[in-house]
This record gives sequence, C-alpha cells and structure tokens, in this order.
Amino acid sequence: MNKSSQIPNKKIAFLTKHGKEALLSPIFANTYNSQIQHTNAFDTDTLGSFDHVTERKLSAAQTALKKAYLACELTHCSQGLGSEGSISSLFGIGLLDEEFLAFVDTQNNIEIVARVQQPIKLGPIDAKHKDELYDKLSMFEHNQYWMLKTMDGWEKGLSVSHLMAQTLTFPVYLEPDFRAMYCPQRQVVISKVGENLIQRLSSFCPQCAKVDYSPEHAKATYLLCEICTLPTNQMQPLRPTCSYCGYHQTDLNECKTGSAFYCNFCNP
Ligand SMILES: [Zn+2]
Ligand SMILES: [Zn+2]
Repeated sequence: MNKSSQIPNKKIAFLTKHGKEALLSPIFANTYNSQIQHTNAFDTDTLGSFDHVTERKLSAAQTALKKAYLACELTHCSQGLGSEGSISSLFGIGLLDEEFLAFVDTQNNIEIVARVQQPIKLGPIDAKHKDELYDKLSMFEHNQYWMLKTMDGWEKGLSVSHLMAQTLTFPVYLEPDFRAMYCPQRQVVISKVGENLIQRLSSFCPQCAKVDYSPEHAKATYLLCEICTLPTNQMQPLRPTCSYCGYHQTDLNECKTGSAFYCNFCNP
C-alpha cells in the first residue's frame, strides 16, 4: 500500500435504517467515486434503539463496528460501513449528540471508527393545552419530528403539522424522535462524522504507509511547568499519530514547557 493508493473500493456496503445512506452517499461518491450499497437485511434496532424499547448492550463504537461487519456479510462486499448515534444529557443545558461511523475492510484488516460530538438543542415538551404545545413546538426546527407518549407506549414519527391537526388529550408529553430521518440536527452531525472518516481514510503514515494517521490516536499529555516542572493543566497539542506503528512527527520548535499560570502548584 502506498500513498497514491486509495482505500475505498468502488462499492461499500452500508447497513442502516432511517435514511442515513442518503447523507453519506454523496460524500463517498464525490471523494472516491464509491457507491454505497445500502442494505437493511438485518434489523439494526435489535442492537439498541432510540425509542427506549431496546437497550444497547455494546458501546456505541462497538455497535458501529458490528454493523459494518454485518454489512459486509450480508452483501458479500469486503468493505462496509456502520453507524451509531448516542444522545446524552448535558446536565440541564441541553443534549450532546455523539455520532460514530465505522469503516471496515475485511481483506486488508482495516478498522476505523470516526467520531464527532456536538451539542444539539432539543428536549422533551409537556403542554397543558394546544396553545402551549404550539408555542413550545415552535421553539424547535419545524422539520423535527416527535414521539407522543400514550397509554400504550409511544406514537412515533409525528410531524408538527400532524400534531397540530390531531385531537389530543391534554396534558401531553412529547419527546424528540431522534431517528436520523426525523432529526435535522443529527443529520448535520452525521454528515460531519462522514467528513471525519474521509479525512482518516485519506491520511497515510509517513513511516509505514498505513491508513488512519490521525490525531485521534495521540496520547493526551500535559506540558510541564516552566518553574517547578510538575505537569500543568495545559495540554500538548494532539499530533497525527499512526495507530499501527505509533509514529508521530515531532516539531522541534514546539514549546516543551507549560506556563506557571496553569500550574496547580505555582498558581494554586
Ligand atoms: Zn505507521
Ligand atoms: Zn509550577
């Protein structure tokens, strides 16, 4: 494998529901002229779902990898993609959307899991009457869809216009429908994780020429205080690092010591 070689094949399998292939296909087509072969021959919701029905057992990164391998198996492609999102609470100030996108190449033993996280402005709504519901819904994007809590569980995939046209029994409780095709804010983060994966697929180690030469593999280290030489709170910038041979470039002009301002000992 050398620098001029491109990793992605003409065909890459992608196991997904919820329309994520539409977000990622253009990115792969434009960069590599690769075609995404979409499959939904396996119900990915059995690995965990956003509607509280199935808890995810693996980590989000492991789930994305598992889906990528399943995509290869189901389609007999040697390269596959799998994605997984994880929404967590940011302690009262909103939600954090963490999106993972795994790429595997079963012939060349390549595994890359790209990750992007970004806060999103979404949250549950409760309303005692229609006006209150309308006011609260209009605080969010119009093309965000919702789930309505009912006696029998959740009614999913409800658009704002559908909700306003329906006869509802108040008070109502709604949660955002986080499935990708219903959640425009997630779509933005999914596109970003696609770009991140492309970047890593296009970065080769100068020493061993393997792919995925990325700051993602750098170890976080703290600069040592200029006065007392204890570690400060100042982080060393993360440099691209090879996940195979560990190579990373060292910058000779780089500042090796941290400011005493960031030292817990000198400036408590
Ligand atoms: Zn290397
Ligand atoms: Zn110090």
